[in-house]
Amino acid sequence: MNNLRIANLSKTYSNGVKALDDVSIEIEPGMFGLLGPNGAGKSTLMRTLATLQEADSGSAFLGDIDILNQPVELRKVLGYLPQEFGVYPRITAWQLLDHMAILKGITNNSERKELLKYLLDKVNLYDKRNKSVKGFSGGMKQRVGIAQALIGNPKLLIVDEPTAGLDPGERNRFYNLLVDVSEDVIVILSTHIVDDIRELCSNMAIMNGGQIVYKGTPQAALEDLKGKVYQKMVTRETLKEHANSFSIISNKMVAGQPLIHIYSESSPGNGFEPVDPNLEDVFFSKTNADHLLV
Ligand code: ADP
Ligand code: MG
Repeated sequence: MNNLRIANLSKTYSNGVKALDDVSIEIEPGMFGLLGPNGAGKSTLMRTLATLQEADSGSAFLGDIDILNQPVELRKVLGYLPQEFGVYPRITAWQLLDHMAILKGITNNSERKELLKYLLDKVNLYDKRNKSVKGFSGGMKQRVGIAQALIGNPKLLIVDEPTAGLDPGERNRFYNLLVDVSEDVIVILSTHIVDDIRELCSNMAIMNGGQIVYKGTPQAALEDLKGKVYQKMVTRETLKEHANSFSIISNKMVAGQPLIHIYSESSPGNGFEPVDPNLEDVFFSKTNADHLLV
């Protein structure tokens, strides 16, 4: 099986921050969503899997490949789109991809030409192939990024917060592209945006404070919370009081008034009404990020 198996992975930075705290998880082919607030450790995990930094302890295997000890082997089957894809040079999309393909070892000219045509067509940039990447929109740059990540038919595709800064249309096109390539491939998509996971990922994990605090399907996560989420419109003045008395999992402004969701095993009364849980409720209830909301 070509599953990704991560066991007891830990990493503490030299400043004392424990970014990975005994992370263990098995991931199967398909779209996998890694959800977590900023600072959860998502990028650290992804850079470690992409063999760009070392862990202090633990192991990670992709099928037979020992990721931490066989980085060269892993890189042959890896596609990686980092959170910061960096400065885009003043060269054309074609030149950039051509260069990356050579770096990935595709030295045969006609083979490379065919591949670039295929990839540029796939990310819908063939018409723009002779334009400077520097002038591209955020969405177009991300599509160049995913095209370079797809060079060499990766078995493991890691994309770190790929939709940050994209408009809704660009986001949708990007999602469709990922779903398109995810057959037989492990795609790990990290995000702090719950919407990214909802329709896209068959499996997910939630990370917080360097730990995996939930793993399963989005549906099972929702099922867990069923009957335990209640909502109420409150005033700004009473928000603090409510925060003291109830376990608030989210707080949204609706027409200028806070609408709060709380977690409760039984009916809390007090004007609260039951509501179907959403993934945001799952996220906040697992990460206890509610203190940020009030
Ligand atoms: P995420 O991608 O979920 O936002 P990161 O992996 O980037 O999380 O960061 C996890 C924690 O590790 C944060 O507290 C962050 O400040 C810290 N961190 C990340 N990279 C470094 C580094 N190179 N040196 C020191 N601390 C770091
Ligand atoms: Mg990150």
